[in-house]
Amino acid sequence: MNDTYRHKGLRLQLIESIRRKGIRDERVLEAMSTVPRHLFLDSSFLEFAYEDKPFPIGSGQTISQPYTVAFQTQLLSVKPGDKVLEIGTGSGYQACILTEMGAKVYTIERQKKLYQKTKSFLPTIGYGTVKCFYGDGTKGLPAFAPYDKILITAAATEFPKALIEQLKTGGFLVVPLGDRNMQTMIRLTKKEDGRLEEERFGAFRFVPLLKNKAND
Ligand code: SAH
Repeated sequence: MNDTYRHKGLRLQLIESIRRKGIRDERVLEAMSTVPRHLFLDSSFLEFAYEDKPFPIGSGQTISQPYTVAFQTQLLSVKPGDKVLEIGTGSGYQACILTEMGAKVYTIERQKKLYQKTKSFLPTIGYGTVKCFYGDGTKGLPAFAPYDKILITAAATEFPKALIEQLKTGGFLVVPLGDRNMQTMIRLTKKEDGRLEEERFGAFRFVPLLKNKAND
């Protein structure tokens, strides 16, 4: 695996900039300083890998901005051994961060080519434990439910009911909710009596969460 001192140095600078922007969970920062983000971008874009910006990964999709990955991961409060369901595999970067934090990760992608690419790529960089699925993530993955945590990495216009059903009592679901242009980051907590507590955390912009799977 091509991860040099130069890459590690760039990564540590990126982590410091994310820390300055307010991410304080050391376990999140530690995971992000371990996963080599440059391997998730085409090698000709190396200089972009350690900027705090989103980046195109093909099929019209993006790898989320590092700050956004850190923000969602921090809200999820992942503990070692947690079973986590991610909606929107994309490049697989976020799934690797969750894995580094000790989670057992299930991830769903609706675009076939992206799913195939990421599923075959992750084992080559040591993240073969991530379980990749092709399908419509708004339906969740009932076969492996319930999940301790659910993370949606695309913009939803409503809370996906199936996902709430697949969340454990006491579990968190983190989702950017809004319209195409802007979303509010929301954390739902499933209470003992089945009630949902809703917390709101600022504005973000994600690619849309789309219904049904795509064939390309
Ligand atoms: N977590 C990713 C970034 C995801 S971008 C990473 O770390 O790189 C959002 C992804 O969600 C895109 O790849 C998009 O195709 C996917 N997506 C959108 N709607 C979806 C759905 N209903 N089910 C599964 N994936 C979906």
